[in-house]
Amino acid sequence: MAEERLISANVLEEDMAETTIRPLQLDDYIGQDRVKENIKIFISAALERGESLDHVLLSGPPGLGKTTLAAIIANELGNPIRKTSGPAIERPGDLAAILTNLEPGEILFIDEIHRLNRAVEEIMYPAMEDFVIDIIIGKGPAARTLRLDLPPFTLIGATTRPGLLSSPLRDRFGIISRLDFYSPEDLAAIITRAATILGIAIEPEGAYEIAVRSRGTPRVANRLLRRVRDYALVKAGGTITRATAKKALQMLEIDEWGLDTVDRMILEAIIVKFAGGPVGLETLAAAVSEEHDTVSDVYEPYLLKMGLIQKTPRGRIATERAFQHLGLPYGAKTEEGGLFE
Ligand code: ADP
Repeated sequence: MAEERLISANVLEEDMAETTIRPLQLDDYIGQDRVKENIKIFISAALERGESLDHVLLSGPPGLGKTTLAAIIANELGNPIRKTSGPAIERPGDLAAILTNLEPGEILFIDEIHRLNRAVEEIMYPAMEDFVIDIIIGKGPAARTLRLDLPPFTLIGATTRPGLLSSPLRDRFGIISRLDFYSPEDLAAIITRAATILGIAIEPEGAYEIAVRSRGTPRVANRLLRRVRDYALVKAGGTITRATAKKALQMLEIDEWGLDTVDRMILEAIIVKFAGGPVGLETLAAAVSEEHDTVSDVYEPYLLKMGLIQKTPRGRIATERAFQHLGLPYGAKTEEGGLFE
């Protein structure tokens, strides 16, 4: 199964390759034109005024370039960046320690910011708004509040689930940008750029073939590029052509819509085990032996985008397209409510 994990957590080999291909300048950041245009203007304005950039919230499914964009923003501003994540900041004191150690203008990047706990979040409000924090010293009747000034900083929050952010926190971001899935053309450009940096020979048709199967996601595109490169080296003389890409992706069980085995298992579970749905997230995740967060954050956004599933108040349902994609007759439910048993 590990082999098929094309859209899951980072591995070491990937980390190393990612560091070399990660764009460092806004001009090398491909696609997301609307977001880029906005950010460009805000950065220029901040530089011109000599002030810190407004706090930025970046949302979108994993692998779309939120962390990359945060690093680029820091780079373009010429300021350092410190990276952490919502679950890593457990207590208010942890956040206070981070905030009081920031340098003026520093970027604080918090990944999975929707997972900050409430007590920590409350420290964040005055920090974001007025660059101060209130620390409580002592306990009981002797407790006092001490107000500390912070250096001006920019918080960049990233989230796969903007809906889970509390509104007081969301309201404190001056710039809110949502990243969308990339077009095949943009992904082909990302693949070609990465191939050039990594010294991989690839034909434009080969890049496009990988692009259309990368589920709109640069991280997946780069990962598939490396897998296809290995295949091309061993089986096809090194150059990635359309035919080589096709064969390699077939071997990796990525279908022509970019679905991998887990995507297909999810669709099959909804259709076969739950009669096309509706089925609740927990039940569905258990049926395919995945964490429910993984199903909802990693797999579902693309299945929704491709029109293969729909979310209803009672749960997920498979669309007619999903039946067609799996080659199953639509609506052929049995009396018992199950299909094909
Ligand atoms: P996220 O933080 O949204 O999960 P990342 O920023 O880690 O995603 O992006 C994953 C990888 O995809 C990066 O290492 C980078 O190489 C590549 N990438 C993402 N967005 C772009 C882009 N717009 N242009 C080129 N490469 C990109």
